[in-house]
Amino acid sequence: MAHAIEVRGLTKSYGDVHAVRGIDLSVAEGEIFGFLGSNGAGKTTTIEILEGFRTRTGGDVRVLGVDPATAPLTWREDIGIVLQESEIEGELTAIEAVTVHAACFAQSRNPEEVLELVGLSDARDQRAKKLSGGQQRRLDLAMALVGDPKLIFLDEPTTGFDPSARREAWDMIDNLRSLGCTVLLTTHYMDEAQLLADRISVISHGEIVARGTADELANQVAAIPRITWKPGTGPAVPGRFGAALEKDRMVIETHDVVEVVHELTTWAKAEAATLDDLEIARPTLEDTYLRLIGQNEPDAEEPS
Ligand code: ATP
Repeated sequence: MAHAIEVRGLTKSYGDVHAVRGIDLSVAEGEIFGFLGSNGAGKTTTIEILEGFRTRTGGDVRVLGVDPATAPLTWREDIGIVLQESEIEGELTAIEAVTVHAACFAQSRNPEEVLELVGLSDARDQRAKKLSGGQQRRLDLAMALVGDPKLIFLDEPTTGFDPSARREAWDMIDNLRSLGCTVLLTTHYMDEAQLLADRISVISHGEIVARGTADELANQVAAIPRITWKPGTGPAVPGRFGAALEKDRMVIETHDVVEVVHELTTWAKAEAATLDDLEIARPTLEDTYLRLIGQNEPDAEEPS
């Protein structure tokens, strides 16, 4: 299978800060690849090395078959970049902004078609500064698409969006599949990656801590079912159950749910102990992800 991106043993240090610690990535042509991590995990550093905007400390990198550190200008024409912050001149209308940008490329897509593709045809004559936040992100994507790129970097495309704007953005990103271009999507959100990405890598503290499809990832970390309840006023549950207090709930992790629930309720009945709000739950992929980055990054922050 041809690869749009191949990374082997990539490292990047800023003085004493080892931001990227020997990561491998391979992204196949035509796939949407999710690159996940919490704040400071090393996503931006990695992406900017792939885009040719930062130098690396070590390792091998090939993007569309070329080392970004020494790539010719023509290589850049095949790459579309959608940053977190829009850099579009606010006085231009949507169609003007895309048309002006199209002129920078030797080969470009039709600006009207691109606006259609991102769902902005109705707002073609609105000034960029008057567009809503969601519409501005659409225009950002249109700017990246008009150069007819083979590879698109989408940097946290829905950070700060409300739930309905996120869903619209997801549809739009999913539509990129029809163009056949490769997409590298960075995000803090597991649900976003789960929905959009063919494969996912999770970076934490400069290292890849999990990789695979969403399903493979869920299986990689033991997704152990949990029996939980609110501790009551009766006798404490015996140590043999291995229960632990997490926040305000007692938790037992076990694969043998039926047997343990049976033993637990039998004990509670015999001892007149309460098991208030008893629940059995299988961790979601989001739980799995939080657990993964929590294990590797104890000081992980909330997404910005
Ligand atoms: P976020 O989601 O917050 O954008 P990130 O995963 O993109 O985070 P990076 O921006 O790559 O993370 O940062 C990785 C680490 O490298 C952090 O500890 C950060 O403080 C450090 N770092 C990034 N850029 C520089 C720089 N120019 N000089 C020094 N340290 C840096």
